[in-house]
Amino acid sequence: MREVREIIVASKRHTLALFGGTFDPIHLGHLRMALELRQVLEFDEMRLLPSHQPAHRQTPGVSSRQRSEMLALALEGCEELTLDERELLRGGATYTVDTLEELRSELGGEASISFCMGLDSLLSLHRWHRWERLLELAHLVVVTRPGWHLPDRDSEEHGPLAELLENHRGTVADLHTRACGCLLLREQTMLPISATQIRELIKSGQSPRYLLPATVLQYIEDHRLYTEVASGDPQ
Ligand code: ATP
Repeated sequence: MREVREIIVASKRHTLALFGGTFDPIHLGHLRMALELRQVLEFDEMRLLPSHQPAHRQTPGVSSRQRSEMLALALEGCEELTLDERELLRGGATYTVDTLEELRSELGGEASISFCMGLDSLLSLHRWHRWERLLELAHLVVVTRPGWHLPDRDSEEHGPLAELLENHRGTVADLHTRACGCLLLREQTMLPISATQIRELIKSGQSPRYLLPATVLQYIEDHRLYTEVASGDPQ
């Protein structure tokens, strides 16, 4: 690890990490993971990146504006994490590749950009728009999640992903010395919380208290989100 520290100190490259998701709603699992990744991998910046209309999953039930307001509340007072609203502002279907192209042209070719995701998200990567381009623009940091297995080389569906893992497997030092192109697998404890679980608890009249920040829960209650007669305009 000392060697990695020395490489990080020697490298003047700016290291930006992105943690994308629907955040419907943001919960402590997301926040802990983003913070730990920033701290352990020593990124200069960690941005939470809410997607507008994820192309590979159902449109979120509450509006983009509301999801973003909940994120802003969750991040209040936390200097280590910031909010990047570009996908919400761009509107339309959200393609990560467009976001990375945009960031690459803003930051230039030298900056290191890492897109972080859970293993569950990696397993659908081959259905993302222009997914082969992603590693030409950024690194991928994949956190293994309990109950999920690495893509199987012999599987017809996941074979290309297993190959991607083999060909691009990188180290922490790579994230600091290279701009893009590496896939880092990280084993990290994930809090057993999901947004689905929170939505279901609320729908069934139970409290999701302690699974998400109190300010976010207050917002959900004030706007009566995730109840059957939710006030969220699905946009
Ligand atoms: P849903 O239950 O609606 O699918 P989710 O809780 O999985 O939502 P997303 O917004 O879909 O949240 O996920 C955004 C990112 O956060 C993904 O990369 C996912 O792997 C990761 N993630 C989800 N839950 C956790 C958790 N408990 N700990 C750490 N990371 C998580």
